[in-house]
This record gives sequence, C-alpha cells and structure tokens, in this order.
Amino acid sequence: MAEYAITARVARRLGEVQRLLINGQWHAASDGRTENIFNPSSGEIITTAASATREDADRAVAAARASFDGHCWTGLTPAQRARVLWRAADLIDANAQEIAELEMLDAGKFYLGALNGEVPFAAECFRYYAGWCTKIEGDTKQLSTVPDQAFHIYTQREPIGVAVLIVPWNGPLVQAAWKIAPALAAGCSVVVKPASHTPLSVTRLGELLMEAGVPDGVVNIVSGGGSTIGRFLAEHRDVDKVSFTGSTEVGKQIIDAAKGNVKKVSLELGGKSPVIVFDDADIDLAIAGAAQAIFSSAGQVCVAGSRLYVQDSVYDKVVEGVAEIAANLKVGPATNSAMEMGPLISRQHLHEVHRMVETGRAEGARLATGGNLLTDFGGYFIEPTVLADTSHCMSVVKDEIFGPVLVAMPFGSKDDVVARANDSVYGLAASIWTRDISKAHRTAAAIRAGLVWINCHGIPDMAVPFGGYKQSGWGRENGYEALLQYTELKSVMVRL
Ligand code: NAP
Ligand code: MG
Repeated sequence: MAEYAITARVARRLGEVQRLLINGQWHAASDGRTENIFNPSSGEIITTAASATREDADRAVAAARASFDGHCWTGLTPAQRARVLWRAADLIDANAQEIAELEMLDAGKFYLGALNGEVPFAAECFRYYAGWCTKIEGDTKQLSTVPDQAFHIYTQREPIGVAVLIVPWNGPLVQAAWKIAPALAAGCSVVVKPASHTPLSVTRLGELLMEAGVPDGVVNIVSGGGSTIGRFLAEHRDVDKVSFTGSTEVGKQIIDAAKGNVKKVSLELGGKSPVIVFDDADIDLAIAGAAQAIFSSAGQVCVAGSRLYVQDSVYDKVVEGVAEIAANLKVGPATNSAMEMGPLISRQHLHEVHRMVETGRAEGARLATGGNLLTDFGGYFIEPTVLADTSHCMSVVKDEIFGPVLVAMPFGSKDDVVARANDSVYGLAASIWTRDISKAHRTAAAIRAGLVWINCHGIPDMAVPFGGYKQSGWGRENGYEALLQYTELKSVMVRL
C-alpha cells in the first residue's frame, strides 16, 4: 500500500506556527519562542509550535478566572451549554479527516485507526457529556440527630472553578477530550496544557470549540514545557483544580505543586497491568487478546497488558502464540496503511524502551522474540518484544516500560496469580481469560485495579469510569464520576 498523501489543508496548517489560545485569541509566545514538532514515523520536523512563557500561562489563567467569575459559561442555561458541546462533537466529526491526519503525523497513530477510532471517540465524548449538562443535580437530606426542629436541607453541585488540564502525548486528542468535555459540562473554565511532543490535534480542537460557541476565555490552550509551564500552572494560586494524565513520577510532583492553595487534584498515572490466562480459557482468543493488549499503539497505552501470567499447562502454547503474532506484525510508518504497529513517540523514548529490554535480558529473562531497533524508516521503531520466564525480582516486571514489551510468567493456582498480579505499585487495569464465570468474577474481585476486563482487554467506553488504585492515580476519568470531579458539593440547611 502507498504512503498516505496529506491533504492541502493539513499541509497549509503545518506551514504555519501552531499558536496558543488565550482569551479567545490565537497568539505566538510572548517571547516568540517555538518548539520543533517531529513526525515519529520519519523523525522529520513537520512544523513548529509556540512554546508558552510563564507570562502566557499566567494570562491564560487570568482569562479562565475572569470568564469563570464573570459567569460567561455558567450564565448560559445547562441546555445551551449542552448544545455547544453537541456542536463541538459535530464539528469534530465534520473535520475528522484533518484531525486524523494531524494525529497520524504528530502522534504516530495510523490514519484509519484515528479516523475510525480516536476521532469519533472524541466526538462521542463531547456528546456523552453534553447529555450530562442538564442532569447535574443535588438531593434532599433529612436531619439525623437534631431533635424538635424542622429543617429543609438540600445539596447542590457547583462547578469547581478554574481547572488546569495536563495531557500526555500517547492519546493527545482523546485524553484532552476526556478532560475538557466533563470540565465544560460541569461549568468550569479551563487551561489545557498539551504534551510538548503533540500539540497539533489539541490546537485544532481548540479552534473547533471556539467555532462551536464556547465563550472567550473558557477554554485556553498553552503548549509549553512540562517542568516549566506545566509546573507553573499546577502551582498557580488562581487555579482551583488540576487534572493530570501522565507518569506516576510527574504525578507526585503535581501533588507537591498543588499544595500551596490546596487545589483539588485528580491523577491518571502509570500502570503495569496483568493479563491472566487460565488453562480453561479459549486459548486462541486469549493469545490474540494478549498480543493486542500489549502491541496496540506500540504499547504506549496506560492500560497496556504488559505482564502476562499463564497457567502452567498452557504456558508454552500461549507464550509461543503471542511471540508468533509479534514476530509477524508489520512494523513501520503510521503513514503506511500496510503497517500494523507504528513508532514510539521520540528517539529518547525509543532508547529508554530498548534499554529496558537489554536490562531484562541481563536480569535473566529469555527473549522469545523481538528486542531489536528498526532503523529502516528514519523514525522511532522497535520490534514487538516478548520476554519469557521472567520473575518479580526483575525491573522489567516491576517498572512500566510504555512500549511494545511483554513480560511473561507461568502460574499454578488462582491464589498464586492473584498475589503476583497485586504485587505491583500500580493498580490501573487487568484482564482475566477463562470460561469459568465464577472464577472470572472471584478473580476480578481479588484484583486491586480500577478496571478489570474479562475475556477482552483495553476496550474503552465513555460510560465506564476508569482510573487507578495505588500509585496509578486519584479519581476516575469518564462516566458521571469524572463529571463530579469538576464539581464542589454544597449543603444548604434551612431552618423552617
Ligand atoms: P509525563 O512526562 O508525566 O507527561 C505528561 C504531561 O505532563 C505532559 O503534558 C508533560 O509535559 C507534563 N509535565 C511533565 N512534567 C511536568 C511537571 N513537572 N509539572 C507539570 N506537568 C508536567 O508522561 P509522558 O511521558 O508524557 O506519558 C507517559 C505516561 O503517562 C505513562 O506513565 C503512562 O502510563 C501515563 N498515562 C496514563 C494514563 C492514564 O489514564 N492512567 C493515560 C495515558 C498515559 P511535556 O510533554 O512538556 O513533558
Ligand atoms: Mg514526558
């Protein structure tokens, strides 16, 4: 198949500097600084993006604060806000081709995958939360202890205020939508910080939100360095809430940064999610599922199934099956539709993942397949890799790799595998493969993770909350639960 030829519209966009959205206007950085943006499939510079200064970030917070305090967004009725979010969804759909191209060039997503996956999924996220705008309710309470007095008591949900939304590079559009849509549905004003590697689709989303009728200042977008601008925003005293998705290491820094004004924090962090295959599973389904769980998006997925536990009697068969799929995956540029696994995000990340594979081998893991860098295309490619016969003393089993590297281990009993699956600082997700429904539910109950799939892995849905136990985070994304995290709860007691 041929290389994907980008449209003139996207070519024109790449010819311009990507700008910052502050108070409804698009700006260059105040000091004129830009960052190069790379295509991870080719290693080439595709465009440049304004890199916000502290002054820019400060103006973005001020714009969000003024729009919130001035009721620019909350002054609309919930039904009016719902219509704006719905229009945003329709505009995302109407511009799907362009956004999918940007996601392909910037984040290394396959064009058709983005066109049929990420882009409509982001649109549905806005529709899902459009529906919630008109359904944010409190309730009534009864006194429990005060005698001989009559009260009318009610609670109400109010928007939390100005929310800073810090987004990673592995799902730039969808991760941004997962934060912006519930924040807007709740009535917040926001400052979005995209990952430095991947500002393009979020910038386009900002344009579409303005076109949909979001008032000036309600959505601001400032690309810039994480340790400078990200940190500045997380510390900012006029910010009420920070919602962060990224590494556990930076998540801990966000907690520190937020404490100055005790702003509310939600964190979606790293994972090392177990895939547990019992001997009574549909083995072919489990092999395909385990391969998909780790190799999709080249393993750069927070819920990637990166630890494979297989019951003794089927261990060899499953590991060989997954290794065979890995060895046959066509790895290459996301711009080439014949490919099945794309690049890692950057040269630095590529070398970190490769170094982890080497560490695993040095620690005694058996290389069942993969392990080599692929240098044919200029971009950042590594072979899908399976390290077999690993153990819990190895760093490849303990640490998140965030690449296409699977570590496999046999297990004996359910209790044995549950103990090992839970032997991790992370607790984001897991999958369980068995035909025994009772075993499936009992194992799910015993796993300390925010999302457990049974006989599948990695399927997202807007209605299903997800997030981490332990060091995988605080709070939940998606569902009504995510919306609540952009609200404060007020109780009102009226003495009658
Ligand atoms: P990262 O380094 O933590 O960066 C995430 C975001 O935070 C980026 O926008 C980054 O900006 C910014 N940032 C970096 N340092 C910061 C600081 N000191 N203060 C404030 N912001 C800062 O993560 P990553 O390497 O981009 O992404 C991979 C990680 O994200 C993995 O650990 C993965 O598991 C996790 N993840 C979790 C989920 C989930 O839902 N649980 C989803 C996706 C990814 P720069 O880009 O400028 O560095
Ligand atoms: Mg980073």
